Amino acid sequence: MKKKLFQIVLPFLLPVLPVAGQEDIDEFLRNQPIIDVHIHITKGYTDNEDYNKLNPDIDIAKIEWMSQRFDQNNIVLALGGGPMKYAKLWPKLDDRHWSGPRLPCNPLREQDEPCESELPDLKELDSLFANGTFRYLGETSFHSMGIHPADERFDPYWELAEKYQIPIGFHADAGPFKRNMAETPNWNEEYGNPLLLLPVLKKYPDLKIYLMHYPGRYFEECIEVMKKYDQVYCEITAVSMFAPKERWEPKVKKLYDEGLGDRLMFGSDYVGTIRKNIEIIYNLEWLTEHQKRDVYYNNAARFLNLSEEQIKKHYEMVE
Ligand SMILES: [Zn+2]
Repeated sequence: MKKKLFQIVLPFLLPVLPVAGQEDIDEFLRNQPIIDVHIHITKGYTDNEDYNKLNPDIDIAKIEWMSQRFDQNNIVLALGGGPMKYAKLWPKLDDRHWSGPRLPCNPLREQDEPCESELPDLKELDSLFANGTFRYLGETSFHSMGIHPADERFDPYWELAEKYQIPIGFHADAGPFKRNMAETPNWNEEYGNPLLLLPVLKKYPDLKIYLMHYPGRYFEECIEVMKKYDQVYCEITAVSMFAPKERWEPKVKKLYDEGLGDRLMFGSDYVGTIRKNIEIIYNLEWLTEHQKRDVYYNNAARFLNLSEEQIKKHYEMVE
């Protein structure tokens, strides 16, 4: 009898459950600043109905829409790379953006428009890092463009990044698996292997690199690199959103078992998925409340060497 009642009631309860979950998350996030270490800076797309009515200038419309997403989700700082033009524009309109050039940009890829030269002019980049206009380098597109990460062409860029302690986002996975072949004819997923960074790290041991998409194909290699270099951090975007949880969650657990959990940071990667990615972290039930807050903010604050003053300001921003 009891079982039968349960069967009748359950279908009515099911749609209600996620709503209660949302309230729990909202409560948890109250006054919690969040650092998003993986966004993409791009032009505005006129066909994007999320923001194409916000501003007559479609590029500005996209930035305004992103700022609204940041406001809604307590994002106080975001690391993002893209075309030089937009990497300069975005932080001008919203100083929560720590931006820089995609490395390298791909002249065939629409997302990278305008890509006048694959690698930025070194003198210009040096001055943009020096005066604080740029505070980021990445995401790397070595795998999608078929370029070896230790290619000597990048040496002067590593040198600059090390000198100014610029965070670098390295795409450490084989995916994405749905891609535009015309934009990436030289695709070579082997070049997403973070072990290929070891000669670079040997030469520039103070590079501040984090490995994007940790629980993907190269998770063991990521752990190997992180064990060798204390300043190498990681995030779990895309894989944690698209792959079944049972496939990637044990790898995140392994990160903690290996004593590397305090180097996991929060990221969203795909436009409009900040909340979804917040939920992914929140729903790792075996993480303590403290560890979740570390992922949302503290680990990245340490990685980025934020000052006490900056941290205080971030908490004030979400009061
Ligand atoms: Zn990526």
